[in-house]
Amino acid sequence: MLAGPTAVGKGTVASYVRQHHPEVWLSVSVTTRPPRPGEVEGQHYFFVDDREFDRLEREGQLLEWAVVHGRARYGTPRTPVEQVLDEGRPALLEIDLQGARQVREAMPEARFVFLEPPSWEELVQRLVGRGTEDEEERAARLGTARAELAARGEFDHSIVNDDVARAAEELVSWMVDPTPEKD
Ligand code: 5GP
Repeated sequence: MLAGPTAVGKGTVASYVRQHHPEVWLSVSVTTRPPRPGEVEGQHYFFVDDREFDRLEREGQLLEWAVVHGRARYGTPRTPVEQVLDEGRPALLEIDLQGARQVREAMPEARFVFLEPPSWEELVQRLVGRGTEDEEERAARLGTARAELAARGEFDHSIVNDDVARAAEELVSWMVDPTPEKD
């Protein structure tokens, strides 16, 4: 399970894992937020409306879900995760802190990795530099990020995202072999 503050690069690290480590299965979340340019249905997210999200939630089809940044809802479809884990394959969920806490309740055996920025300044730079959000959205995300950084101690392992390939490789090797020496 990969969590960490917004704009720290969780998505980029997850993409790297998708490209270089086909043995690791990546969960595709459902979200009520609209697609960004270049995002592909079923690959980055399943984009749904509020009604559909309500239905999935009501029918117990989500392993966890959360309102992220006070705006859209995001959730992890339950069945694919359970199937992959039943097959004994490593599964990676890239979710926010609220979701991570719910998964810990539902799956105590899950392990949690916190992806952290090299520094707070770097995180602000990345958030502003991305340019995909308006000012109000950026302020909401910075607020979330500050609270999320404070929760680092709840995680089993922490990885600094100083370099995407390096961080992703550390993540995969830790997923395969989470020995205490690597902490
Ligand atoms: P974005 O809108 O930038 O794609 O994602 C915003 C945030 O939503 C990220 O911090 C990401 O980790 C989180 N997120 C994405 N999918 C899920 C999910 O299925 N559940 C939860 N709880 N958070 C998610």
